[in-house]
Amino acid sequence: MKYIDEYRNSDTAAFLIKEIRKNADILADSGKIINIMEVCGSHTMAISRFGIRELLPENISLISGPGCPVCVTDAGYIDASIELAQKGCNIGTFGDMINVPGSAKTLSKCRSEGCHIEVCYSPMTILENARANPDKEFIFLAIGFETTIAPIVCMLDSAIKEGFKNISILTAFKLVPPALNVLTSDPELRIDAFLCPAHVSAIIGADAYEPIARKCNIPCVIASFEPVEILLGVNSILKQIVSGKAFVENDYDRVVKKEGNLKAQTLFRTYLKECDASWRGIGVIPKSGLDLKEEFAAYDASKKFKIEVKPGKHDKGCRCGDVLKGKIKPPECILFSAKCNPLNPVGPCMVSSEGTCSAYYKYNRKN
Ligand code: SF4
Repeated sequence: MKYIDEYRNSDTAAFLIKEIRKNADILADSGKIINIMEVCGSHTMAISRFGIRELLPENISLISGPGCPVCVTDAGYIDASIELAQKGCNIGTFGDMINVPGSAKTLSKCRSEGCHIEVCYSPMTILENARANPDKEFIFLAIGFETTIAPIVCMLDSAIKEGFKNISILTAFKLVPPALNVLTSDPELRIDAFLCPAHVSAIIGADAYEPIARKCNIPCVIASFEPVEILLGVNSILKQIVSGKAFVENDYDRVVKKEGNLKAQTLFRTYLKECDASWRGIGVIPKSGLDLKEEFAAYDASKKFKIEVKPGKHDKGCRCGDVLKGKIKPPECILFSAKCNPLNPVGPCMVSSEGTCSAYYKYNRKN
């Protein structure tokens, strides 16, 4: 309760909103809208849930970026996962993946047809299952950003050290900084600052954003997910813009260190290598992914079961790509709400609990 009191305190929030308005007034003279991109699905959800977008002055715009791990996973990856399940492998996955549309169907549909697909709260579940069933093959769907890469590689480390022969992973890992780089170079977007993700930053460290802040001269402020913390982050960004300076600022230093989580980074370096990665709706971003090193091919489901992850098909009307790039807000997609909703999602941004379309559907429909 103390935590909630501190980070949801209405007096602190009111003070920060006043400060934000003061800084926004100074910037209003330029007649420019300040575009702040939040790069985390949890930020997107919290911003919608607590009505933070509506509390900000008109010249401050919060736009959502590609921060939902499920949303950026390509349909072709779902197709490959289904192929593995249909070959008789036992698939373990984080929950949101189960309803994300592949080219033809979802993993959930595949499960209803008799395939073995288990939603796991932790990748470690796969170890227990594989230990109890040595004659069966277990594959974990290894998706997500640096935050989820850490527990998955931790599981892999245990599997390799304990000599498991019936565990593998299908990788589609994504890295946040290369995606931010690509977004800053898109002339249509005009991003003035990044509200950097909390969990990812705990792994990669605050220093990871230095090259972006320096090269693009835009503030990169790390903030956590409670309303007061988001407002604090927005105010830090505005203070930097008003002062004409741009740097990395860590407003979540009770968790995020400059250097990040060195233990996790060592595990990444041990088992993974950089690769180009395909982001759903965005395309291939060079060196924006991590894949298993050659010497661990026995744990690579695509090699072990000779599966190729090919480009998938997306619904033509779905504009998840533009939503993920911050080019449109969900209600600008003609399918939003009537044809695409959480009960009948057309694109991944409506499926995931961290998806922008899902956040807008849940909290912003009247607006
Ligand atoms: S509303 Fe649905 S169809 Fe439109 S972009 Fe969002 S997820 Fe895709």
